[in-house]
Amino acid sequence: MPEASEKLSSVPIVIRIDERDNVAIVANNGGLPAGAVLASGLVLREPVPQGHKVALVDLAMDAPVLRYAVPIGFALQAIPAGSWVNERLLRMPDARGLDDLPLATVKSDPLAPLEGFTFEGYRNADGSVGTRNILAITQTVQCVAGVTEFAVKRIRAELLPLFPHVDDVVALAHSYGCGVAIDAPDAVVPIRTLRNISLNPNFGGEVMVVSLGCEKLQPQRLLPPGSIPLLDERKEQLDVVCLQDDAHIGFMSMVDSIMHHAKDHLYRLNARRRETVPASELVVGVQCGGSDAFSGITANPAVGFCTDLLVRAGASVMFSETTEVRDGIAQLTARAATPEVAQAMIREMAWYDAYLQRGSVDRSANTTPGNKLGGLSNIVEKAMGSIVKSGTAPISNVIAPGEKLKAKGLTYAATPASDFICGTLQLAAGMNLHVFTTGRGTPYGLAEVPVIKVATRSDLARRWHDLMDVNAGTIADGTGSIEGVGWELFHLMLEVASGRKKTWAEHWKLHNALVLFNPAPVT
Ligand code: CA
Repeated sequence: MPEASEKLSSVPIVIRIDERDNVAIVANNGGLPAGAVLASGLVLREPVPQGHKVALVDLAMDAPVLRYAVPIGFALQAIPAGSWVNERLLRMPDARGLDDLPLATVKSDPLAPLEGFTFEGYRNADGSVGTRNILAITQTVQCVAGVTEFAVKRIRAELLPLFPHVDDVVALAHSYGCGVAIDAPDAVVPIRTLRNISLNPNFGGEVMVVSLGCEKLQPQRLLPPGSIPLLDERKEQLDVVCLQDDAHIGFMSMVDSIMHHAKDHLYRLNARRRETVPASELVVGVQCGGSDAFSGITANPAVGFCTDLLVRAGASVMFSETTEVRDGIAQLTARAATPEVAQAMIREMAWYDAYLQRGSVDRSANTTPGNKLGGLSNIVEKAMGSIVKSGTAPISNVIAPGEKLKAKGLTYAATPASDFICGTLQLAAGMNLHVFTTGRGTPYGLAEVPVIKVATRSDLARRWHDLMDVNAGTIADGTGSIEGVGWELFHLMLEVASGRKKTWAEHWKLHNALVLFNPAPVT
């Protein structure tokens, strides 16, 4: 889009989200120099980098700096109009207490149903739908990771060509399983996460486990009888390869055993075919990483628009990242469908506040040097931009870390904001498609589900043209709109879910490790 970039380089563009805001974001590539004249006639007193805030009016000392119509900070000194407002000039507001919050007070008209959209998916015995057909090998403990990975390489090379309808084989490696306080109350989080990941819709209900033998997390504890619907149906036992089994003589005997067990599952997975299912079978996890000031202007609002489309189509959407929504708690409890949902959200926030307190930090530990370089002064500003991914629908459900999704519609799935932990917990919740927005840029990807990456800026989309799937930067350039990008994302989701299109992360096989959230002690 040469016209847009020419326009960008010559005419100063600033973006204000709400008319009450007293700062705006510089949109131009490379920022704006001192002396640049804005459309309003305001002259910049100093250079302001792209994505950073410029004061639109004179701000007195202690005056609130408003973005998204909320105070994202208070001026530490008098800031004249036309100045660069960065984190060094702001005092962060205190966190909103969890008492006296509005509970389900927003009474909006229900969103109009969106009908007629479908995709081609793999219907599972438990009713869920996969977007990929993957053999996942569950592991009880980190000790078996090397052997399993060795076997997986051989399965890929020697067996997968014989089973053309299976997309991939994935080792669910992790660092848990032994050397941990497995009876601590919070150990329930990593254990249920591992259990629920092995039941992710993309694995077709085919669960096979590699165990060491002496670990604390025994296979029967990870997947107790009754936890796998397909096994009960077939009246079969859990399929376990135990490396310490006396029958194994030498390393290759273990590898052969894993390959032999894998074959049974590959036969069954290979017999499956995609069928046309309604868009309501999508289970989408949204998150952001490497955020900048554009995240909350372009990519996240477009994702929010798409979230509304998905909810209207009857699908499931999860938003997460507790430290990034904590500062918007009052907006969210107000948007809860019922007071009970609002209370569940408060419970998750309170749990996380206490968790952070145990480590002597608070939510301000969230922002990164890159966030600040990208114009995000603090967690309040980041949170306001993060929450918009959740769209406008009522929040109809809340789940705790590692739990499985209970209902369709918009769910708050409580997770840390860490990209890998959030992705891992959304996998456990049953996500079959992942949407990830980024401003600074991250090549993030998962082996277990397709990850659609949305760039917040055209410059990033241009430089990372073979890593970013959607460019939401057109919204800031003035060549695209929130609605347009939201629809583009929605249609792309159906293409990707159907297997007709691969995401860039899938194309290059960019797979980040699963990272468990273990709030319990290790031993
Ligand atoms: Ca994140």
